[in-house]
Amino acid sequence: MNNYFLSIDQGTTSSRAILYDDHINQVDFVQKELEQHYPSIGLVEHDANEIWDSVLYCVEELMKRNSLSHKDIISIGITNQRETVVAWDKTSGKPAHRALVWQDRRTSDYCADLREQGIETEIRQKTGLLLDPYFSATKIKWLKDSLGEKEISNLLFGTIDSYLIWKLTNGKKFVTDITNASRTSLFNINNCDWDQDLLKVFGLGSIALAEVKANADNYGETTLFGGSIKISGVAGDQQAALIGQNCFEKGSIKSTYGTGCFLILNTGEELIRSKNKLLTTIGYKLDSEVCYALEGSIFMAGSLIQWLRDQMGILESAEDSERKALDADPESRVFVIPAMTGLGAPHWESDAKGAIFGLTMGSGQNEISLAALEAVAFQSKELINAMEADGGKITSLKIDGGMSKNNYFAQILANTIKIDICRPKNIETTALGAAYLAALGSGFATKSEITNFWQSDKEFEPKESLNKKFDEWQGILKGLIEQ
Ligand code: ADP
Repeated sequence: MNNYFLSIDQGTTSSRAILYDDHINQVDFVQKELEQHYPSIGLVEHDANEIWDSVLYCVEELMKRNSLSHKDIISIGITNQRETVVAWDKTSGKPAHRALVWQDRRTSDYCADLREQGIETEIRQKTGLLLDPYFSATKIKWLKDSLGEKEISNLLFGTIDSYLIWKLTNGKKFVTDITNASRTSLFNINNCDWDQDLLKVFGLGSIALAEVKANADNYGETTLFGGSIKISGVAGDQQAALIGQNCFEKGSIKSTYGTGCFLILNTGEELIRSKNKLLTTIGYKLDSEVCYALEGSIFMAGSLIQWLRDQMGILESAEDSERKALDADPESRVFVIPAMTGLGAPHWESDAKGAIFGLTMGSGQNEISLAALEAVAFQSKELINAMEADGGKITSLKIDGGMSKNNYFAQILANTIKIDICRPKNIETTALGAAYLAALGSGFATKSEITNFWQSDKEFEPKESLNKKFDEWQGILKGLIEQ
């Protein structure tokens, strides 16, 4: 018998199963892409059957490839795309509709109606979130309204974690974790419970609600892989990354640079209400300790690099951005405004458009590559400024995600935010966090033992200042927003 942990990472573009040894070192992983459905402008759906099949495939393949039996696995941890909702039949498990993905904007008008009714302040006060189609409540309402009254009585509505656990446990557990719950707009983060008034506001008073659990807890067991395996850790993807980066101290902060960028600051027991359009959310709950967090997200980070590669043909690969930026003219004053999909925090300008400024005859691929890396760093600085203005105190930053592999980007980031940066050996912190939670929840390790598993790879200290360039970039951005 071996001692392994298995993480299920159900993301927006793929599902993955990852195997860890008993020091939570990654051993192997299996990944399966997920088809994205865009029925019309603004609508984004996933086939919930495909989500489940892909998870099942990844786990089975991982176990087969490593000749594992259920006895080799101490427990399973789960992390998932947040806010996405599924409606499924509580007897057969059959999805009643495709899953509505977090990016789906079909409830914009409904959100506008609610805003006119003047309830946004109550929502913000109770949930820490903005009134936006991004969050689950209006998506659940849409599903409820479009499925027949008769059908609804047999349905369960939940986030991806709830759906996966229900399937894994053969319908025995209808549960969710507190971080996923805190992204629904139905969960009151002040008293950490579903909010009956908000349920009424969204017309969801009659639906069954999943039991909310701490992140490292007993989530039941699955018997689908040859025998019983416990599920003992669950968190939404960005909170899992917070755990995966061991941001357990108040003031610790992580920034994940994948497709977009998500910065999360641990604010401890303190529930900070942002005056700068950041979100207040649950960071994690371990035993009875609830830790709050401030979250800021920007839409384009790695996707800006992908855009330069795929749409503009400027880069041969994502890695190429580092070499090209290093070769750029240091006097270059080219600026990229990465608003191709609008602007996230702290602006929330959904109609903003991208732009490139300051081109001269000497500007080429190298200068645009440098400007793109700087733009992601500058947006990160805006988030950090907003967090500090909200009272957060930040002394160092841990980075992860695909783009964090770019050393030059990490250095530009350190120069821009003037804060020491640390990158861990394992930059796949989302799945890592789920494995840490599984280890905690199964009683295999304590929080301080988990901290010993985390390993640093490289540190970046601030060198030359990029203040002037940041000011210039921000001036351009503000001008664009005001237009
Ligand atoms: P996600 O989990 O959102 O799919 P990942 O963490 O896997 O994202 O990171 C992938 C993103 O990182 C891609 O958008 C890619 O463009 C970017 N990326 C990967 N390597 C580099 C690099 N060396 N420099 C800049 N960007 C990179």
